[in-house]
Amino acid sequence: MEAKHDVLVIGAGCAGMRAAIEAHDAGADVALLSKIHPVRSHSGAAEGGINAALGNASDDSPEEHAFDTVKGSDYLGDQDAIQILCDEAPDDVYQLENWGAVFSRTEDGRIAQRPFGAAGEPRTAYAADITGHVLVHVLYEQVMKRDIPTYEEYFAWRLVMNDDRCQGVIAWDLLHGGLKSIGAKTVILATGGAGRLYVGTTNAYACTGDGMAMALRVGVALKDMEMMQFHPTTLAPTGVLITEGCRGEGAYLLNSENDRFLKRYAPNAMELASRDVISRAEQTEIDEGRGVEGNVLLDLRHLGADRILERLHGTRELSMTFAGVDPIYEPIPVRPGAHYHMGGVDADVWGQTSVTGLYAAGECACVSVHGANRLGGNALMETITFGKRAGRHAADWALSHTTVEVPRSTETDAARDLKQLLERTEGERPWSIRDELATTMHENFGVFRREEQMQEQGEIVARLRERYERVVVDDKGDVFNSDLTQALELGFLLELADCMVVSGIARKESRGAHARPDDFPSRDDEHYMKHTIVRVEDDRPQLEWRDVTMTKWQPQERKY
Ligand SMILES: Cc1cc2nc3c(=O)[nH]c(=O)nc-3n(C[C@H](O)[C@H](O)[C@H](O)COP(=O)(O)OP(=O)(O)OC[C@H]3O[C@@H](n4cnc5c(N)ncnc54)[C@H](O)[C@@H]3O)c2cc1C
Repeated sequence: MEAKHDVLVIGAGCAGMRAAIEAHDAGADVALLSKIHPVRSHSGAAEGGINAALGNASDDSPEEHAFDTVKGSDYLGDQDAIQILCDEAPDDVYQLENWGAVFSRTEDGRIAQRPFGAAGEPRTAYAADITGHVLVHVLYEQVMKRDIPTYEEYFAWRLVMNDDRCQGVIAWDLLHGGLKSIGAKTVILATGGAGRLYVGTTNAYACTGDGMAMALRVGVALKDMEMMQFHPTTLAPTGVLITEGCRGEGAYLLNSENDRFLKRYAPNAMELASRDVISRAEQTEIDEGRGVEGNVLLDLRHLGADRILERLHGTRELSMTFAGVDPIYEPIPVRPGAHYHMGGVDADVWGQTSVTGLYAAGECACVSVHGANRLGGNALMETITFGKRAGRHAADWALSHTTVEVPRSTETDAARDLKQLLERTEGERPWSIRDELATTMHENFGVFRREEQMQEQGEIVARLRERYERVVVDDKGDVFNSDLTQALELGFLLELADCMVVSGIARKESRGAHARPDDFPSRDDEHYMKHTIVRVEDDRPQLEWRDVTMTKWQPQERKY
């Protein structure tokens, strides 16, 4: 064992850094570990903002925030967890402000809040359209101020199980090469999403679901894995995100006939309906021949140059750089792209998993506050509020327990397995399997899902997993061996894809992100107001169901 700590946080995005700060302030010796530099985490790419019922732009309340979130989740979110998020959000945002987050302001100097999809009030606090960038820098300053040690550019690969609890991690040191084991009384997974399962995604290259798969491998269940959110406005062909903030500021969506087609799908909320509703509407327009080269158009022109430059300058730059379009003068071509995993590591409202000492927070976790469809602005809030809670609980547990041990056999097993992979000289390079996985997931497990396509995807994933057994890593070196880490990431992605397809086939209804237009076009509360829970036994995903926690909101038909 190279080092040990009370609490080890794997992942240094918003969730990981917020957890580490809380654990430190609770008195624990805490360390962060991240495969990339903390401020390069995908959280830094968040644009539109963070939701809290501050009531600065209207008469808002946590209660109303909670109702919007429950409805947005298509009644699959756990209502107790949603209530906690919405109640704690305002103080958690003020805390960020006190730490130095420069939010955009109202005329009278309070934090400005913009309208966002499916929110009854303007609730989304923002720093222009670079909110995530501002938050990761503020959190990183707080990490530095506390001298929290960070294992930067360490790739976590295996969780250490000893004495029936999680006691650390085995990681690959990217800069120097070699496996390092780091012991900890409690481990918090904060490794983010898995958008890289899809060829068209807003997610960074690092979003490969590592923590979800690591948890799965030590027997923890994954929850609601079929629920992958498609964001309605991503740029072709890169998948770069065009923020919902554009529609919050008043942008329109048009089809090839210059028609604001949402009036036929969401006549009241129009462009501010929920993401699942808009993505399905766009895909229908495109499939029925009213698209523009596989896209629809996002029109900002009527907002005027001043407003675009002040509040959406990042969006303008992205469209000019990646699509050659200046939104002051032309509409932006957009289409649905894989964006956010509502599913993830099954965790409770303190981030605890079923394995003692193992926690999860942020996008890699499923608490679940987003259910079948997340509202824009709620993910950043979840990273902060549930990052904080996991940090607190993990610290308290660690401070009341004493021992940490990484068994020698765990280290030697890991070293042997890695050597075997590195010494293989013949086989297939990882990238071709990875490409095929991402392309077929997009085709067969995208905005719309069809039984035969999902079955076919199950077979494809099985074949890809077989091919993965013979994957070969060309680079045998020690320094920044991304060939090796990409091979390990591919192993994670394949296991997650398997869980997603199994859950998707079993959910015989349409709810939120899981839309089955041909065979089960409606929501079926009687049979499926339940979470899918998947574990791996004998190398195969095993599915169970768990009731949704309801407190006071009865399911209603969902219209926008
Ligand atoms: C383009 C974009 C825009 C978005 N905009 C918004 C928005 O405006 N509002 C909103 O609410 N949500 C938004 N979201 C969603 C939200 O930003 C994310 O869900 C959230 O930031 C995830 O934070 P996280 O801390 O869980 O993970 P991340 O920020 O993704 O961080 C993951 C961390 O885990 C580390 N890691 C991963 N695997 C390993 C490993 N094997 N070993 C070591 N370290 C590892 C990474 O290095 C990284 O530090 C957006 C998402 C995207 C992609």
